[in-house]
Amino acid sequence: MTGTSLILGKDISNSIYSELSVRIQTLKNGGTVPGLAVVLVGNDPASEVYVRMKGRKCEELGMHSVTVILPEETTQEGLLEKVRELNGDRAVHGFLIQLPLPPHIDEKIIINAIDPRKDVDCFHPVNVGKMLIGEPDFLPATPAGVQQMLVRSGVDTDGKHVVVVGRSNIVGKPMAAMMMQRGIGADSTVTVVHSRTKDLPSITKQADILIVAMGRPNFITADMVKEGAVVIDVGTNRIDDPDSPKGSKLVGDVDFDSVKGKTSAISPVPGGVGPMTICMLMANTVAAAERAAVSR
Ligand code: NDP
Repeated sequence: MTGTSLILGKDISNSIYSELSVRIQTLKNGGTVPGLAVVLVGNDPASEVYVRMKGRKCEELGMHSVTVILPEETTQEGLLEKVRELNGDRAVHGFLIQLPLPPHIDEKIIINAIDPRKDVDCFHPVNVGKMLIGEPDFLPATPAGVQQMLVRSGVDTDGKHVVVVGRSNIVGKPMAAMMMQRGIGADSTVTVVHSRTKDLPSITKQADILIVAMGRPNFITADMVKEGAVVIDVGTNRIDDPDSPKGSKLVGDVDFDSVKGKTSAISPVPGGVGPMTICMLMANTVAAAERAAVSR
């Protein structure tokens, strides 16, 4: 590779959507319309935006879409009842409960109640375990999106040192677990760093592939990156920007302007990982519908 190339999730997700459209049509020809339900409890504005985006994408793809909006005061038992209903709904092949939930509801109890065959977020312990032993039914959407970005940009991961910054259950941990599996887009030597890591730059500087998911705007600077590294920025942070009409803008965890020139490839924010998450959620729903159609 000469110079720096941009890894654009926007373009990559569009080519995945084209592939999904073919699979959706095949399912429809066989009498199955893939269906995704999204449950939102309360009225968190950011969650409302995500839920709307998921519904819109389902409709664009010709999938069945169900949006369930429950009031903030919904009880845990009330939400469990909705989960049981969706577990039994044959028109819904996958569903997710939008997080975070109000504090009076125990997220773990709700996630554990989801039928693992419909757990398209891949949060149920059965699916997390299957992913870890390398026999996944689903992959968690954001790390799966990052892996697809690497594979489809021709980044060789085999034997490469991948450093993952962040150890959350949603991004960092599954990302690390996926990159250490055998197979395409994996077979990497993986190091995970987090807020308790001593001398973080000495480790990030060793990365052939640096995947950053910390939620700290512009934290990773050029001096923390090896010359020629591939950098994937999962971070999505809204910061004040007096020059923007909105008064704010989205930035990643990587200081893009300073880091870009040092890399062989880098994903920007926005336009990088962001569009991949919903795309992989749709892919999981189509896969769930295909499995349901076979077992009918
Ligand atoms: P969490 O807050 O759950 O985890 C952040 C991780 O970063 C933690 O493991 C934390 O360490 C680590 N961390 C924080 N500060 C430092 C530091 N100074 N040095 C080293 N490590 C640090 O966040 P998520 O994983 O859920 O999300 C991370 C980012 O990715 C956010 O900006 C989020 O908005 C974005 N995101 C984007 C998505 C997309 O679709 N593009 C999807 C999901 C997330 P410790 O565990 O020790 O606290």
